[in-house]
Amino acid sequence: MKRSRKWFVFIFVIINMWMAFGVLMLTCNLNRGNNRFKDEYNLLKDIKYFPVAKSTDKDSKYVYYTNSWGDKRLYGGERTHEGIDIMAEDNIRGKYPVVSMTDGVVENIGWLELGGYRIGIRSRHGGYFYYAHLYSYADGISEGDKVKAGKILGYMGDTGYGKEEGTYGMFDVHLHVGIYINDDDGNEKSINPYPYLKFAENKLIKCHY
Ligand SMILES: [Zn+2]
Repeated sequence: MKRSRKWFVFIFVIINMWMAFGVLMLTCNLNRGNNRFKDEYNLLKDIKYFPVAKSTDKDSKYVYYTNSWGDKRLYGGERTHEGIDIMAEDNIRGKYPVVSMTDGVVENIGWLELGGYRIGIRSRHGGYFYYAHLYSYADGISEGDKVKAGKILGYMGDTGYGKEEGTYGMFDVHLHVGIYINDDDGNEKSINPYPYLKFAENKLIKCHY
């Protein structure tokens, strides 16, 4: 083979390998994107109820919320808001029952400086549902418990924003709902609960309070 022809073949092979590599990487990235979409779609299958029970008394005030995910928060250093705040129309701690949106397992329960009395439930498709600032917990609920969607976890409050356990009253009574999933690299990431809450808005547990 002539020398120039050898070079031609060599460059041709290199270009082909490079293109094959590019196609492979593109395929991987598309799959990762699809997985992420699939994870977020699968969470919908887990969601059975809105996280605040409604009173059977039709005149009773209820809750409201806006899409505040990603807003700036300052306590504990500047950060973004990793959840949605469901505000109590009656600013009364301990009034509104907080229910599990999903079936799942209690992964964490107890005090956090930011979240106050919080409970974290891992749903079937791997979502971590984080309910924070509770006034109190339902009797007997503890880490490792299996819970059914709609189970009362505790009561809405205003705990948190304090290093000392039990700090309350630093803000109005509300339920902070966060949803986290693990990405393909195993890193926990916050996803916006707003569309999931909208999805669940009419799926209400009703009880007397
Ligand atoms: Zn919040």
